[in-house]
Amino acid sequence: MIRTALLASSMLFIAACGEVTTEPVAEAPAAVETVEVSADMRAVLDSVAGQNWGWEIVRDLTTDIGPRLAGSPAEARAREWTVAKFEELGLENVRIEEFTIPGWERGAETAMLREPFEQPLYITALGGSVATPDEGITGEIAYFPTFDDLENAPEDMDLSGKIAFISGRMEKAPDGAGYGPANRKRRSGATEAGKRGAAAVIIRSVGTDSHRFPHTGQMRYADDVAPIPIGALSAPDADQLERLLDRGETLELDLVMTPRAPGEWTSGNVIGEIVGSTRPEEIVVIGGHLDSWDQGTGAIDDGAGIGIAAGAAKAILDTGLRPERTIRVVAFGAEEVGLLGGFAYAEQHADELANHVLASESDFGGEPFYEVQMGVTEGEDVIAEMARILDVPMSDRATNGGPDIGPMFAKGVPAMRLQQDGTDYFDYHHTPDDTLDKLDPEKIRRNVEGFAVMSWLAANAETDFRSDESFNQ
Ligand code: ZN
Ligand code: ZN
Repeated sequence: MIRTALLASSMLFIAACGEVTTEPVAEAPAAVETVEVSADMRAVLDSVAGQNWGWEIVRDLTTDIGPRLAGSPAEARAREWTVAKFEELGLENVRIEEFTIPGWERGAETAMLREPFEQPLYITALGGSVATPDEGITGEIAYFPTFDDLENAPEDMDLSGKIAFISGRMEKAPDGAGYGPANRKRRSGATEAGKRGAAAVIIRSVGTDSHRFPHTGQMRYADDVAPIPIGALSAPDADQLERLLDRGETLELDLVMTPRAPGEWTSGNVIGEIVGSTRPEEIVVIGGHLDSWDQGTGAIDDGAGIGIAAGAAKAILDTGLRPERTIRVVAFGAEEVGLLGGFAYAEQHADELANHVLASESDFGGEPFYEVQMGVTEGEDVIAEMARILDVPMSDRATNGGPDIGPMFAKGVPAMRLQQDGTDYFDYHHTPDDTLDKLDPEKIRRNVEGFAVMSWLAANAETDFRSDESFNQ
């Protein structure tokens, strides 16, 4: 126990210094077998130890369905699969809540260096990107070592006919702190290059690996800038371009990317509940997102989260005990393309958000958590009790509860998060490498334990985790 705490606190120090560490920061599972708890909580912990539904769910979801692109027929099959699974688990009020999204699907994608010599490169279109013509475009590369270099370039810089290449490396960190800064080029690269007249943009993948899979992910266009195609190169291919650029070579590239935007598609959130015994209208939300990018099978992002949340509910169901409040498991749809399931939930449940006492999403892989983060204005003692049982420290960092919880958190729903060790998460994130072999059944069980403890305590607590004035509808 002491060792875990020390590891966690030394990790915080390292993270605060902004250094890179590749050492795991948490070990699984911690020793909760001996911690002093109520008889009910002991029953919940024993139930977690006696099964591993969390693992079985992510295993079978990735095996039976595989990639689950938002709005696609595969995501629809995943919803039906999840309904059947939630019913098999014994959850109540199982249902799909549909909403519509702008459809997008990948087409052909190739990149070929033409000058100073021919060489193929590995590229993938970013989600939401417009297409090149079918025959592709050819352009000279305009190099920007970082996104800042492009953003700070004069707006009258003329990139007409050129393909902007934005590099910049993402740093590894247990909490994924490097993701936000690295993601700016993915989100806004097409806008900044488009403003200056570029024909297309390629970026160094937002990732921390040195493998040859490029990382996809959603991009955005500004309303007042003409959209141009944007894709991501694998890290070694970005290195290749940089070596040539460092020599002072002029590079020319053929780029073909033909994604389609076929119009409105249907997505949905899948919901199942353990209805509360004495305060059923009060709700604790736990969940993950059901959709994934189209290339991997969505194991770490975010089949793991579906397994962890649903596995925790199953562990509680298996005790035969009923929580006072309702525990609601939500498998959010269309997270990858802009948290659309999270926004749809907040809108469709606007009338009952005042009764949502706490919400948390697992969406950072399957490694063990090393600290507890809060986004509450009351009930810190209850969350401290979760941390004590789980043998992890409380963090002084605030959380919005996870991507799909963000929209309801913004409307006043209290949130918390079990911060997982994501040191290696961005090696696989949004690539064909996001597959089940990257997960460990015992680490998934430890996460299930975390979610079971969190939901059981929250669903039986006196507090509603918010002060009177903190709720704004
Ligand atoms: Zn995710
Ligand atoms: Zn993702």
